[in-house]
Amino acid sequence: MSAGKIILPPATLGMLGGGQLARFFVIAAHEMGYRVMVLDPDKNSPAGVLADTHLCAAYDDRAALTRMADACAAVTTEFENVPASVLDALAESVPVHPAATAVAICQHRVSEKNFLRDHGFPHAPYAEINGEDDLPADGLYPGILKVARFGYDGKGQARVRDRDEALAAFRNFKSEQCVLEKMLTLDYEVSVVLARNAAGCVAPFPVAENIHRNGILDISIVPARGSAAVREQAQALARGVAEKLSYIGTLGVEFFVCEGRLYINEMAPRPHNSGHYTLDACVTNQFEQQIRALCGLPLGDARLHSPAVMVNLLGDIWRDGEPAWNTLLDQPDLKLHLYGKHEARPGRKMGHFTVIGNDADATLKSAMEARARIGVEG
Ligand code: ATP
Ligand code: MG
Repeated sequence: MSAGKIILPPATLGMLGGGQLARFFVIAAHEMGYRVMVLDPDKNSPAGVLADTHLCAAYDDRAALTRMADACAAVTTEFENVPASVLDALAESVPVHPAATAVAICQHRVSEKNFLRDHGFPHAPYAEINGEDDLPADGLYPGILKVARFGYDGKGQARVRDRDEALAAFRNFKSEQCVLEKMLTLDYEVSVVLARNAAGCVAPFPVAENIHRNGILDISIVPARGSAAVREQAQALARGVAEKLSYIGTLGVEFFVCEGRLYINEMAPRPHNSGHYTLDACVTNQFEQQIRALCGLPLGDARLHSPAVMVNLLGDIWRDGEPAWNTLLDQPDLKLHLYGKHEARPGRKMGHFTVIGNDADATLKSAMEARARIGVEG
């Protein structure tokens, strides 16, 4: 379907996936006066319970997809593992953004790395591993072996010191297609979330500095510390990626910073965890931008109005029951977001909070104190 048609409230928007990213999309859509139909197989999904209509079915359920195409003015997704064929099938009868081609590149580490290489974007040295013979004897060690599909939050990854370890890891991943990436010595990590609409306008959000723990995002500090040149270059690279993907929607681009140089780690064809600070610290948040891009509207102002620090809340802090939320809610410059998930498991993203400040250092200190009060260890 061609882009360009403007979709106005109270149209119904379709969302593939019902997790926290879809939940924030539903909230933003409702604020703007849109209705939302969510497709997710979990009857308790965070977004399904808020949606106007929850299609409780598999992502490739024919009948559900037909209902969605009939009811919705446009369809988007909150996660990259929706089969590209599903997006293609929907796109025959309803506008779908981002397009299947862009999602397909981002959902497969081999096509993602090859895309970066082919367009001259800086990335870590890597090799495509289709079989044991592809594992090099040297050159990429120490490295990280990553499965090509369905990895997230550091899952499907193994750190390997040499070919023997890489071989063992590859066999452990059942010889699934992988990429072997050279381990870079990171100064720090940053990300850029941006929106791009059908008119080709791009609105990058400020650069976030991201600290991971056990392969999962822990803290985002905004604006990122470090040099202004790195921040400017990160935004320029992210814009370049969006343009080369002919991307329409909200896109997250993760970077490594090594000796002052940027390397693109990966792209997420959806709003990004490191962009959650935009909910409370920007004029327009990343979910409203996703809606604006999907609906053919001009993008909102992506300006940061205050320094912010976002802290993820994982299921680990439920180890002794419900955390003492008053210890966070007592703090006036802290914004708590819980995703309404019924079951807390270690490592599961259950919520986040953002501290909004005037001074970057004081905001970080305050967020770290709040994090300790709610029981995050370390
Ligand atoms: P998520 O979906 O949460 O972003 P993921 O499972 O897709 O995670 P990556 O982003 O590839 O995984 O890697 C997770 C983290 O592991 C990175 O943020 C970084 O801290 C570290 N890491 C990954 N690749 C490398 C590398 N080549 N060199 C150094 N560190 C790396
Ligand atoms: Mg990542």
